[in-house]
Amino acid sequence: MTDTDTAESTGQHPLVGRFFHTTRQCAHGARVAVWQGKIIAAVTVDVLLIELWDWFAGEPSAQELITLADFMAKEPCLYSDAEWMGFSFEHGALRHHCDIIEDGDDIEGET
Ligand SMILES: [Zn+2]
Repeated sequence: MTDTDTAESTGQHPLVGRFFHTTRQCAHGARVAVWQGKIIAAVTVDVLLIELWDWFAGEPSAQELITLADFMAKEPCLYSDAEWMGFSFEHGALRHHCDIIEDGDDIEGET
């Protein structure tokens, strides 16, 4: 470890530093990755600064602010490191790669 990141200062948001995929359900009922990225910081306890990674370049493409509630609504899979994230996508829970989404079958009941 040669970089100078402060290591796990007390009180750090537990999600900071984790890698993630957000997911959705495809038409076959499988979970499919939508975004991949890393949680950079917690601006407040309810707002996360996330970095999204380009799928093809494998490099950061944008940083966005997202509320914890919105993040959770995207059904994220969280990982402790990038290697685990990659394994999940290649061989693990998100190995099903699919763009077929059935619109309208996931509407939350608002009657
Ligand atoms: Zn599918």
